[in-house]
Amino acid sequence: MPEILEVESARALIDARALHRPIVKVHAPDTWFLKRGLTPRAVRAALTGNELVAARRRGKLMLIDFASPASVAERAAASVAERPVGVLGLHLGMSGRVVIDGEAAGDPLLYASNRPDSAWHRFGVSFADGGSLYLRDPRRLGAVELDPDEDRLGPDAFDLTLAELRAASTKSRAPIKAMLMDQSRVAGLGNLLCDEALWRAGIDPTRTASTLDVDETRQLHRAIRDTLRILGRRGGSHTGDLTSQRGPGAYCPKDGAPLQRRTVGGRTTYSCPVHQH
Ligand SMILES: [Zn+2]
Repeated sequence: MPEILEVESARALIDARALHRPIVKVHAPDTWFLKRGLTPRAVRAALTGNELVAARRRGKLMLIDFASPASVAERAAASVAERPVGVLGLHLGMSGRVVIDGEAAGDPLLYASNRPDSAWHRFGVSFADGGSLYLRDPRRLGAVELDPDEDRLGPDAFDLTLAELRAASTKSRAPIKAMLMDQSRVAGLGNLLCDEALWRAGIDPTRTASTLDVDETRQLHRAIRDTLRILGRRGGSHTGDLTSQRGPGAYCPKDGAPLQRRTVGGRTTYSCPVHQH
């Protein structure tokens, strides 16, 4: 499923391709997909005639600012003309993908079918220039909302400081992996990235978060950063060293020990019984 790296690649695609194109039509055929009381009529009224002006992200939540169209001269002169009138929140869910002018972000084959089936277009907009932006989601677990509450999310995993990680873990009696996946503590990490980061840090995923000492927290903080940087460069959250070993007969890529497979925080978890403590 999409984790922070996939959402970041979708955000970058919107940033590069979908901004400053006036919206002439809103496609919202699936009311299940609209959350927090949003109706097709309300989302149409909010977006039609406006344009997307910035693509932000906090964890796995995409935040797209929209505003009324400004001329190029106005845009150059001041940001006043671009003051957002609202924020469109997009969630990719388990299988969602952003498609702009027919082109999808991210690796097409890994977590969902890439069949260009318009029945999977749960939400979208058409631009005045004839192009479009769609959220394609075979499993229908993504969502669209207006003006989402960004503060329900913890600090973004890319910006997470050591002090923030320390504060989150000392307060938590949950297993460290469950704490890392709790989006209100740290936003953006999912199952694969957590397993990879804990494996890199040498920390057992079932350890109670509050028992990590200062050095272990520092190692974990560094491992999260390394994981995001290295896997981001390789192309996504499925490209971890440990991730490639998930499955029967798995061995630790570091020391060759048979990997342990358990359920932590409700998710299938792989770890090494030899070097993760
Ligand atoms: Zn190992």
